[in-house]
Amino acid sequence: MSEPMLRFVSCSQHPPEKRPATERRHDYHEIYKGFSPDRAEEQASRCSQCGIPFCASHCPLENVIPEWLRLAAQGRLEEAYEMSSSTNSFPEICGRICPQDRLCEGNCVIQKGFRSVTIGAVERFITETAFEEGWVKPAVPVKELKQSVGIVGSGPAGMACAERLRAEGYQVHVYERQEKPGGLMMYGIPSFKLEKTIVERRWRLLEEQGIIFHLGQAIGAGDGELPLEELRRQHDAVFLATGVYRARQVKVPGVRLKGVIEALDYLKESQETSDAVNAHGKHVVVIGGGDTAMDCVRTAIRQGAKKVTCAYRRDRENMPGSRQEVLNAEEEGAYFQWLAAPEAFLGDEHVNAVRLKEMRLGGLDTEGRRTVEHAGGHSTLQADMVICALGFEAEDLPELWQQPGLAVTRWGTLKVSSDGYATSLPGVFAGGDIVRGASLVVWAIRDGREAAHAIHNHLSQRASHPQPVQENA
Ligand code: FAD
Ligand code: SF4
Ligand code: SF4
Repeated sequence: MSEPMLRFVSCSQHPPEKRPATERRHDYHEIYKGFSPDRAEEQASRCSQCGIPFCASHCPLENVIPEWLRLAAQGRLEEAYEMSSSTNSFPEICGRICPQDRLCEGNCVIQKGFRSVTIGAVERFITETAFEEGWVKPAVPVKELKQSVGIVGSGPAGMACAERLRAEGYQVHVYERQEKPGGLMMYGIPSFKLEKTIVERRWRLLEEQGIIFHLGQAIGAGDGELPLEELRRQHDAVFLATGVYRARQVKVPGVRLKGVIEALDYLKESQETSDAVNAHGKHVVVIGGGDTAMDCVRTAIRQGAKKVTCAYRRDRENMPGSRQEVLNAEEEGAYFQWLAAPEAFLGDEHVNAVRLKEMRLGGLDTEGRRTVEHAGGHSTLQADMVICALGFEAEDLPELWQQPGLAVTRWGTLKVSSDGYATSLPGVFAGGDIVRGASLVVWAIRDGREAAHAIHNHLSQRASHPQPVQENA
């Protein structure tokens, strides 16, 4: 077969087509269309097959990107799928929601001068084709093991860990406090970035694989909750993947006024019952500059807000969120007020305005981010609804799980061993946001997969030393 690669000079970058902003403002469907087979082959063929592929070294899963791009360019899609799914548990999800501009594509060598290969869109195309063709099968184990593992939390970390362990033959039980699995992929990230049917499709495959989901079952010390200690007795190992959910507080006067709400409450409500907290006809101000803030802005637009403004204390170049998401929000009609930090939320009982301080950028802080300071000026924005999106941190976990021996970092996240995913409690492992702090789906998948490996090693060692075998719960 002739080599179709290195076409980046003759063939320009064509990212996947976006639905027009006028149309997408009114619905929650994904905004990007998938590639056609011809377009996917053409775009994959732009890859220059680097000997040292920086795209891959900047992918948290170290996907073998040039290999599956070459196979896709040759139309060998089943092989491309085999290869891409060998390192990624949910490639169709990463292809949709990884911030590729900061990861694989942002480090593609042809980016300067020719614009990067559209890696994420090709990854999505390969996996969607695999689903259509029936190549995606549950990884049913060839032999059953007696040992069981309890997984707390069914976000990407929990799901990826469950999938790998079950493939090895372990009896895998996933405990999830919500009614559906998926974590923030189900209850945080809006459908216009990731349709819920995509997550549900993976849920079905995991069930077909033989993983038992205990939905609506929280692990904790409250009424109806299952104590962690009990879980440790029932299973040979436990994996904690509960994410971070405590919202960082905006510390200004008026924060308790009606109409001031937390980002995740807003996003969750907007997915479940569209009328409970609704921005329709309102002046909405979103505080924050990350991806969560962008998701709130764009949800408020879809609910029919009169005007949506995002206020962020740094400028466009120094915001943590994806540039592409800002662009998408602007296309849909959002306003941005850069270098603006909240000083007070104004109103009697209900918020009616936000007073903002004008900020200016200073030098770099210890984490390499620009510091900000008050530049002197002020402005006021009309607001019937204020959504606070300053990020998330961990709860008091040793208290929540009544495990004083559970070591945490100074940020409250779980401490794990330097060589892996073991917590300070024997047989208890952890990964995803609960260890990293608020991060990305792709990192959670990596943690889930690697933790499964660590748990497998731990249980294999135990099995090779005579121990009483525990029956499954
Ligand atoms: P989670 O996804 O948070 O899953 C944890 C699960 O544990 C949840 O289902 C929770 O209900 C459950 N749980 C918690 N406590 C208990 C308990 N005591 N008992 C039982 N179950 C429990 N990342 C991207 O890569 N791209 C994006 O575009 C993106 N957009 C985002 C948008 C928003 C609004 C938010 C909030 C985050 C976004 N992220 C995005 C980040 C990403 O969603 C997270 O990094 C990722 O989901 C973390 O995975 P996890 O498995 O560690 O935790
Ligand atoms: Fe890029 Fe994410 Fe896919 Fe890795 S998993 S290749 S970072 S889109
Ligand atoms: Fe291909 Fe770009 Fe990766 Fe090089 S860096 S292998 S050109 S995708």
